Parts: sequence; C-alpha cells; structure tokens
Amino acid sequence: MAEKGDESLIIVMGPGATPEDVAHVIERLEEIGAQAHVSEGQFRTVIGAIGDRDQIQQLPWEAMPGVERAVPVLKPFKFVSRDFQAEDSVVEVGGASIGGGRFAPIAGPCAVESRDQLFASAAAVAEAGAAILRGDAFKPRTSPYSFQGLEEKGLELLAEAREEFGLPFVAEAVDPRDVGLLSSYADIIRVGTRNMANFTLLSELGRQSRPVLLKRGFTATIEEWLNAAEYIYKEGNHQVILVERGIRTFETASRNTLDITAVPILRGLSHLPVLVDPSHSGGKRELVAPLARVAAAVGADGMMVDVHPTPDTAQVDGAQALLPEEFEEMMDTVRRIAAAVGRRA
Ligand code: PEP
Ligand code: MN
Repeated sequence: MAEKGDESLIIVMGPGATPEDVAHVIERLEEIGAQAHVSEGQFRTVIGAIGDRDQIQQLPWEAMPGVERAVPVLKPFKFVSRDFQAEDSVVEVGGASIGGGRFAPIAGPCAVESRDQLFASAAAVAEAGAAILRGDAFKPRTSPYSFQGLEEKGLELLAEAREEFGLPFVAEAVDPRDVGLLSSYADIIRVGTRNMANFTLLSELGRQSRPVLLKRGFTATIEEWLNAAEYIYKEGNHQVILVERGIRTFETASRNTLDITAVPILRGLSHLPVLVDPSHSGGKRELVAPLARVAAAVGADGMMVDVHPTPDTAQVDGAQALLPEEFEEMMDTVRRIAAAVGRRA
C-alpha cells in the first residue's frame, strides 16, 4: 500500500508509443525511487506508479514522448485496481488457469487426515473434472484442542497426490515462518479468512513466487480485502486470486452469509480473478450445490469446494463436505451454467 505522502499515478501511453518511450518513463520513475508496474494491453501500455508525492508531481509526465495522459489514483488500493490494469489477470499454475474466461473448480478435503482419505477425495475430484486439488496440512481451529493438521507430513501426501492424479494443489499458510515450507511443496498458497489481515504473512507471501489465494476476512469489507491483496501485490507477487467465502452477519441459519454481490463489485474494482467457496459460506452440505450454481451464474472465475469420502468421520468441517458422487453431479450442472455465461469449466 502507498505510504503517507505517496502519490499513485497511472501513466497511459498513446497507441503509437515505442518501447523506448515506455523505457524512458520507467527510467524517470526509477530515478525518483518510485515503484512501477507495467501492464501491456492489446492497444496501449499503461504504467502504474507509486512514489513520493512531491517528486511525482514535479515531473512533466504528459510532456514525455509517447505519454497520452497521467491520472492520479484516488483509491487506497492501487496495483490491484482495475484503473491500473484494465485487462483481467490470469493465473497459470501446473496446467490450470484461473481467470481469462474459464471456470476453475478447486476441490478436495478441508484437511488432509490420512493418505487413504486424501487419495480417495483426490481421485474423485480429478475424475469429476476439478482443475486443482485442495487440502490443508496446517489447520488453525476455533478451539486449540481440535485437530490442527498433519503439518509437513500432510504436504508430503499432497505432493504424492499431485503426482498420482496430475492436479496442482493449494494449501494454507498460517504463519509467516511456514511460507518457505509451503512454497517448497504447494502450487498455490492459501490465506484463510482469519489471516486476511495478517500483514506480516501477506508481505512474506508477496516476496515468494507461488500464486496466493486470498480468502475474504469474515468481517472484512471489500475495500479492506483489496488492501490485503495490495500487500501481496506490491511486494512483487502479482499472482493473487480472491475467494469470497461468506461473511458474518446477524443471520445464524447458515455458517456465514455468502456475499454474492461481491463478485460483480470486485469485477469492477479489480483485475484479479474472483472465486467463490460455497462450502465455507453455507457450512451445510445441502447449501453447497445451490451456492455453487449461483457462483457460476454470477460470473465467478471458479469455486473451491470441500469433498470428503466419508464426511461423517471427517476431523474438520464434515457437515459441509460433499460426497464424491454429490460433487460429480454438482459439477455437471455448474459446468452447464458456466458455459451459459460464456465460461469453460
Ligand atoms: C478452508 O478453506 O479450509 C478454510 C478454513 O477457509 P476459511 O479460511 O475461509 O474459513
Ligand atoms: Mn474448512
């Protein structure tokens, strides 16, 4: 995020700007110690810059060769905003893409409990067409006495499942000290709802190269959430994926209230891909398929779903886990809805 006394500027290059013109602007930004983010569109290049206000304001950006206009960004989040980059970001990972006209299904057990449990779930979700496997090895729980995850052993099992079923996997990092370990195993690192505002963790994730799946804090506004994404992005990691997973409201009939409105709002505010987690939103098996259908219809870039071979014995979140056959059936419908709104699942 920009510091006090910082100014953010979008420098829009004209359609005839040359690579030298772009390089010149970047050079001038570097001279004053500003951070530059170049985004090459189909027709023009846009340079986003954050730096010291006085210095940025002093330079005659619009007089430089190739520059069409320079516009200050007033939003608190900068690099992740749609103003900075008009085109949707696409995250490519292990043969799967998130964003860019696809609907990416991520599925698997909430937590890795054993080899058998993980492999049964992974086999089923791979068969049903999931693009990415989910499963956690570190599980921060509401009660300190609940199962806390298999830790590194869990990551080893996930890596074995990746080989066996050909799916990249996502797993949660709960502590900045574990980021190195997570990035040595996982294809995507997840930030859970409770850690969305853990700025030390976010910055650490911004300094490593794995894509980050950032879940919405259950009491966070959309602006706070985008600021959290900015923490990762500004450190240099541009592969950030947002996941709406329900927020806490006065309603107690569901675990959380899925804020489906957040999806089109984010689409307008940010270029980052947006997914929906129907499992943690509703918290109940019978709510998962209806919420997943809504996610596909509203234009989400994918979904993240808990699937367990025996939900009644699950150590974590059994009540919301789908059986493999339920997931398969749901995928069928979701795929058709995604296709109806122009996305391939
Ligand atoms: C999860 O995806 O397993 C999870 C715990 O999600 P959240 O952090 O959104 O509750
Ligand atoms: Mn869970």
